[in-house]
Amino acid sequence: MMGRRLRQMRDMRECLHVGPQLQSYLDGECDPATVRRVAAHLEYCRKCGLELAAYREIKRALATHEQPADDAVARLRAFGEHLAGAGPEAEL
Ligand SMILES: [Zn+2]
Repeated sequence: MMGRRLRQMRDMRECLHVGPQLQSYLDGECDPATVRRVAAHLEYCRKCGLELAAYREIKRALATHEQPADDAVARLRAFGEHLAGAGPEAEL
């Protein structure tokens, strides 16, 4: 279906916008409009939800002077490459 395809494309564009904001969002450094936008996106985007969980894990590890979990680091690296244009087919 065309509508579904368009929606997926729009969601992907939203990921590109929201992805770079996740860290600031977690740190509470986003303006209210961005917080609403990120929160609304996280409602339905599992991928960005996982990124937020990864950021949270790394933040927790840094706070407790532990080594962050390898999978969290790897996931963030993959997400960064994904955003940098690794291609829309790149799955996490
Ligand atoms: Zn997303």
